[in-house]
Amino acid sequence: MGSNCVLEIPDSPGFSGGGGSGNGGGGGPGDKARQDALDRLKNKLCMDWILKTLAKAFEVRNNEIRATGYGISPEVKQAQADASTAKAFTNVVATTKIQNATNPRPDYYASVSPASDIVKLEGAWKDDPDQGGTIIHEMFHVEGPYGFTDMDMAKALNAPYKVVPNDPQKTTDNASVAWHKKLEDSPCGKDKQKK
Ligand SMILES: [Zn+2]
Repeated sequence: MGSNCVLEIPDSPGFSGGGGSGNGGGGGPGDKARQDALDRLKNKLCMDWILKTLAKAFEVRNNEIRATGYGISPEVKQAQADASTAKAFTNVVATTKIQNATNPRPDYYASVSPASDIVKLEGAWKDDPDQGGTIIHEMFHVEGPYGFTDMDMAKALNAPYKVVPNDPQKTTDNASVAWHKKLEDSPCGKDKQKK
């Protein structure tokens, strides 16, 4: 059973007590993976890929907004520009809360619920062969600066995925796998790091 790394359906309220926010020092959940992600971002080729991807993802979103007849306000444009720097993305990776899911889904590595700014580690997290890559993936879902869906990301990266009628979660899973492959193949991928 293929494990996925995102969940778009809302999680149940409440968080596990174990481990705290992971923001401070002292070993919160996912901290090792967070450090791995931060190390990869120091690679200029990886960061260039991140920034290029952010630009495309914001473009996808803005085009969707324009398609509904709305414009993009100068404030929104500014916020997008502010969130599209190496410093901003690195800061999101460094400071986003990572928690153990209260009711972990066995088939997922990690998730960010819609409009949430918290990464939750799911049931398959301990078996994730690329936790650092999963953390980078989840950061694109973090609301506040980003909040992109897997469909947004797949579109931004030209990664084809199968739409399953009447099954948004399955469609999301397909989009997630499709664009995660692009991340794996990018200079941010696990196999692309210097040993
Ligand atoms: Zn995802």
